[in-house]
Parts: sequence; C-alpha cells; structure tokens
Amino acid sequence: MSARRYNCTIIGAGASGLFTAARILLQRPGISVALIDSNPRCGKKLMLTGSGRCNFTNSDLKLSAYNTDDPQKLLRSFDRFGSSDAIDFFENVLGVLTTNKGNLYYPATLRAGTVVDALRYFVEEHGAHMINGCKIKELHKNDKGFELITEDGEKILSDKTVIATGGITYPKTGSEGDAKYLLTGLMSFKDFTEFKCSLVPLYPDDQSLKALAGVRIPATVSLIDGKEQTVSSGELQITKDGGLSGICIFDLSGRAVRAMDSGREPVIKINFCNAEPGECCLMAAVRAKMFPERSISAAFSGIIQRTVLDYVLKKTGYKCNMPAKDLSYDDLVKIADALTSFPVKITDYGKASDAQVSQGGVNLASLDDNMQVKKTKGLYVVGEAVNVDGICGGYNLQWAWTSASLCADGIIGDTGL
Ligand SMILES: Cc1cc2nc3c(=O)[nH]c(=O)nc-3n(C[C@H](O)[C@H](O)[C@H](O)COP(=O)(O)OP(=O)(O)OC[C@H]3O[C@@H](n4cnc5c(N)ncnc54)[C@H](O)[C@@H]3O)c2cc1C
Repeated sequence: MSARRYNCTIIGAGASGLFTAARILLQRPGISVALIDSNPRCGKKLMLTGSGRCNFTNSDLKLSAYNTDDPQKLLRSFDRFGSSDAIDFFENVLGVLTTNKGNLYYPATLRAGTVVDALRYFVEEHGAHMINGCKIKELHKNDKGFELITEDGEKILSDKTVIATGGITYPKTGSEGDAKYLLTGLMSFKDFTEFKCSLVPLYPDDQSLKALAGVRIPATVSLIDGKEQTVSSGELQITKDGGLSGICIFDLSGRAVRAMDSGREPVIKINFCNAEPGECCLMAAVRAKMFPERSISAAFSGIIQRTVLDYVLKKTGYKCNMPAKDLSYDDLVKIADALTSFPVKITDYGKASDAQVSQGGVNLASLDDNMQVKKTKGLYVVGEAVNVDGICGGYNLQWAWTSASLCADGIIGDTGL
C-alpha cells in the first residue's frame, strides 16, 4: 500500500494543532491537512483547562506574564495575533459565545468541551483528515518533503509538517515531550531548552506544614532567590503532603524550579494577612486591648484563620493559650512579622503529572517569525513545544492560538502550497 501524502501534517491535535489546522483551512480551503494524535480523541488536555471551563485568553497580555528565550519576538507575535483576535475568532468563526471575569475569558457555556467541539467541527467540516490513536515515532526530511513514521511502522508523507506535540506535563493527556526526539537530526541541541515543570506545587524542607493540610487562605507570597524577589497574590493552598499550591504559588513556581535546578534553595515568604507588618501589629495590639483575658489564639482569631494563626504562633515560639494581656510591644511586633513574612525554604517541586505547564522546548530564537525552524524549511513548531510559558490566567492557551496562527500564515504564505 502506498503511503498517504498531504500538503501539511500536524503532529498533535491539542489546542495549538487544532488551531493551526483551523487557521490554514479558513484561509486556504483546498490544502490537504492531516491532524495526527496519539489519543483516540483530539483536545484531551484542552478539556481539562480552567478546571473544565477553559480560560482561553487574557485581555491583559503582557511580557511579564511569560518566560521565554526571545521576549522581543514574543511581543511581535502578540502584535500579529493577540487576545482580541482570539476572542474574535472564537465568536465570529467558531460561533462560540464568550464571557469574561475581568481580564480572563471563557466560553459562555463555561465548558471546555464547547471549545474542543467547536474546533473539531470546524476542521472536520473544512476537510481536515483526523488520524486518531496514532503516535508518530520518527520524523525525517528528504528532497520531497517530510516522512512521518508511526508506531506501527506506517509512513505518512507531507510537504510541510507542524510539531504541535505539547510539553511534558500531565503526560496522561498524551503530551510526553516528544518534540525533542522528533526533531533530532532536524535541529541542533543548542536550539532546544530542556523541558522542566512550571505551574507546579512547591515543597518545603520543613515537614511541619503538613499540620495545615487542606488549608486555603488568601495570601501574598514572595519568592526570594538571591537578590531577586518576585511577588504574587491569590489563594494559597496547603496540599495533603505539606506542599504549597494555588495560583499565587504556581505563578512563582517556574522561577523556583529554575533556581532549584541551578542548585539554589529559594525561600518563599508568606504574608498570611495581606497587610503591612505595622498594620498587622496595630490590628493585633487593638485586639489584645479589646480581649486582654483571652488566649492570644482566641484574641487574634478575627484577623486570620485560627489553624494558621496557631501554627505560626507555635513556630514563632508562643504558646497559643498565653493571655493576650501578657504580650509586650516587642511580642506584638514579632508576631506581626511572622504573620506577614513567614519564611519557608523550598527544596523540591511536584512531578510532571502535577504540573500544568512546561517551561523549555524549541527556542523561539531558533524559529522565524512564522514559527518555522530556521534551519529546516517547511518544518514548524507551535504551542507548548516552543520555549514560551506563561503564568495562570489564559496566557498559555493564548500562546497556543498565537503561535498556531503565525504558523498557519507561514504555511499558506508559502508559494509552494
Ligand atoms: C489541568 C490543566 C489546566 C490548564 N488550564 C489552562 C487554562 O485555563 N488556561 C490556559 O491558558 N492554559 C491552561 N493550561 C495549559 C494549556 O492546557 C496548555 O498550555 C495547552 O494545552 C498547550 O497546547 P498544545 O497544543 O501545545 O499541547 P497539548 O494540548 O498538550 O497537545 C499536544 C497533543 O499532541 C499529542 N502528541 C504528543 N506527542 C505525539 C506524537 N508523538 N504523535 C502523535 N500525537 C502526539 C498529544 O496526544 C496531545 O493531544 C492548563 C493545563 C493543565 C494541565
């Protein structure tokens, strides 16, 4: 049997692969496109996004929300296809009503399945050939184009090919870091930054935080890595195994992982009160005066969740049943400092199966402005397989749509198709 041949093959039918196909077929309906995925259905990870609601973009696109090797190229990319373009595409091409909570955009149904269905219907109706349950094991280039070899040894041929295989996180969704080996021989190792986890729980050396397992508390957290300090606010969660999680931790986790992998031990300072130390000291002093006969734990329980308060008091050397009237001014300052700047040394981070996004991948600087590998004409890389990762809030999916859109422009702009 002769091998199937397409104008374009896309390896990976996740967010970026589906969007690449949609953008190609919208602008050039006659192109033959095959979307190949190892899963029986497309968009498996996309289904999980935004806790099943799919926070698909953020209208406040800013460089500080991303980590990449080429920030200027990233900015230029968003100028060409930004969040308003994504919202417009969802509304007016895919027919998906959208809604927003501040800068965060979702499908109005608040169901990720709506986005997956809309993309799948669109690409199928526009003639994409969906090849599901098919893992690509090898990729070669010859003078006729690209040769993809499946796990079963079958050959698929194409003029152009797009790597949309994602990163290494949530590997059960099919993203197993295949970009690296598929690109072996087609790029040099200098073009690739090793995949690592980002948006991942962080683990302290101190096991005592297990006492707070299950706690959720609004907090401001600061990551201290040498002279660098990064601050983030939001709900802090303590996992059942004593790890730090929640959006505020996720947003710092990429930096923390890079610090640990470079042999450093970053520290996270937790402000449990979301207040300045002086303000917290005043709040404590007022309550000590209001309730002098109460224990300090009871007197301050209106300021902060009691489990957390008791934990911090004990770690700071105070007995929770000490009468509030016995506290000196120095005690109040010490307690306020601990509540607003509680230090936790970080020594470990969660596994790829716990991380939401990968950092690393094909360097943006090794791709042209349309995501084409500079050294290999006709070969494109999009989405999480590229060395661009964002914080929480729709930034990662926006990168999937942006990179896919630029790639589609490159493919259809090529006179060969
Ligand atoms: C739990 C969770 C929640 C998230 N929530 C959000 C959110 O609300 N907003 C946001 O912006 N981002 C979110 N993200 C991140 C976002 O989902 C990813 O950044 C995005 O899905 C990346 O898209 P992608 O197409 O590059 O990769 P993926 O979606 O990972 O798709 C890659 C596809 O390639 C296929 N594949 C891999 N290797 C091969 C191979 N060799 N052959 C064939 N097929 C292959 C895989 O099966 C997979 O379907 C979340 C991530 C997780 C895990």
